Amino acid sequence: MKVTILKGSHEIGGNCIQLSSGKTTLLLDAGLPLSADSQPVDLSHLIVDALLVSHPHQDHFGLMASLPPGTPVYIGRLARSLIDATQVFLGKDRYALDFHDFKAWQTFTIGDFTITPYLVDHSATDAYAFLIEAEGKRLFYSGDLRSHGRKGVLFENLVKRPIRDIDVLFLEGTMLHRTNDQFPDETAVENTIFQTIRQQKNISFLLSSSQNIDRIVSAYRACKRADKLLVIDIYTAWVLEQLRQITQNTPAMDWPEVRIFARHSQDEILKAKPDYFGDFRKRLYLNRVRREELHATPESFLYFAKMSSFRFIDEFKNAAAPVNVIYSQWLGYIDRKHAGQFGSDEISAYRGDPAVNFVCAHTSGHAPVGDLQRLAAALNPRMLVPIHTEHGEDFSHIFANVVRLNDGETWSL
Ligand SMILES: [Zn+2]
Repeated sequence: MKVTILKGSHEIGGNCIQLSSGKTTLLLDAGLPLSADSQPVDLSHLIVDALLVSHPHQDHFGLMASLPPGTPVYIGRLARSLIDATQVFLGKDRYALDFHDFKAWQTFTIGDFTITPYLVDHSATDAYAFLIEAEGKRLFYSGDLRSHGRKGVLFENLVKRPIRDIDVLFLEGTMLHRTNDQFPDETAVENTIFQTIRQQKNISFLLSSSQNIDRIVSAYRACKRADKLLVIDIYTAWVLEQLRQITQNTPAMDWPEVRIFARHSQDEILKAKPDYFGDFRKRLYLNRVRREELHATPESFLYFAKMSSFRFIDEFKNAAAPVNVIYSQWLGYIDRKHAGQFGSDEISAYRGDPAVNFVCAHTSGHAPVGDLQRLAAALNPRMLVPIHTEHGEDFSHIFANVVRLNDGETWSL
């Protein structure tokens, strides 16, 4: 088996690994780099038998459209629906690729490769690690994973009943030099949301990703405990609708504690694609909350918002009863060195605004070092290769059998 990290050996994001065996070539993720300083790999001339996508985060799938047309793409079904939803709500064309679904823990083959997807806990839903076998060699790719989300049992299962005889482990190292001590798990996040909203005199806004399902669940649970209503937009309602494919246990738009705030621009998207959305628009309006209602009793609501919601947040600013802005995603987005997202300057400025009570409540989508060590020790690979990290140089102090590969180096297994 020949292995080449095209991208991702020295940075967080942009994962792209090429594997070849016999007549078959696979691509493992086609990620867009997160850092503006990093150039994306040119995949437009890369002929592969298939792309395997670990999860629906841009830094793992964002380059797939640049592959030659007709390239087969293997991805979880829900992950594919969520990527599709984003394209539709951004008004972009849906990806015209040759999509194939796989199911968790069900082995399938692509040419000379045998692949087993392992469902993992991550801030993206429908996220997988992969066991990939060819020529008697076994490679395990962690994708992005953690143990402290709401599906942490999946990580513990990998530790308790490890896969044996791993020749190479590609292990993500996002959390090297970072900690999640302040919010060790999703329950800690939920508790901070609950404490913030329980006696609020004004509305609260929670800023996070609509595809971070654990976070929506935390917001919902905090609302239920505090006797508040969770307000979501049309896009978030559609994301929750997609989750119906796999579970009835996550909040949905017709649950009694959930309301929809219908923005005109999102409603126009529903109207433009009636075949795609079916009766969703009709059902949506049964649980609608209007702007006047939010202003009449703002203390009744927690609004699941985005960075771009600052103008709406401003409507509720009040020095006598500060509006709660619960920042619930990576702080890097509002730190100056990573600014540039729409709304990041405005949201950042709330930190010094007397009309705003700015609260942080976030836990990472990635395993801290201690958990990575437990996983690496359990899998006990013959070689451990750093990926998705800015600190690959430190791996050898933390893990056994570390071999570093640079972007573009080809290596025979
Ligand atoms: Zn990710």
